[in-house]
Amino acid sequence: MDDTCTFCRIAKGEIPADKVYEDEAVLAFKDINPTAPVHVLVIPKAHIADLSAIDGQVEVAGKLQAIIGKLARQLGIDGGYKVSLNAGRFQEVPHLHYHLQGGW
Ligand code: 5GP
Ligand code: ZN
Repeated sequence: MDDTCTFCRIAKGEIPADKVYEDEAVLAFKDINPTAPVHVLVIPKAHIADLSAIDGQVEVAGKLQAIIGKLARQLGIDGGYKVSLNAGRFQEVPHLHYHLQGGW
């Protein structure tokens, strides 16, 4: 955990978020500034800065993607959705997260 990291603080419940999924390792919540009718962020609860820092933690990466697939169905956007991941100068929050977007 990184006490200065917004998404670590959301994972710990210190900052409120509109959660759509949670288990022991993964959390999904609505983006505060959505750019699609459905815009959810899916994060590992453990702090991983970005894809370059994922190292051997392939299990959590697979888990995140499996949950995204389930969430797309649950949120009713499985007929058309996009999954993206920003890094480097395109990444605003330095805690690994996938954007799940759809509903257009
Ligand atoms: P990225 O790092 O991939 O550029 O995007 C970060 C995303 O996190 C943005 O879409 C932004 O709206 C969202 N975001 C930033 N801070 C918060 C927050 O405190 N709560 C929620 N729910 N979303 C946030
Ligand atoms: Zn973090």
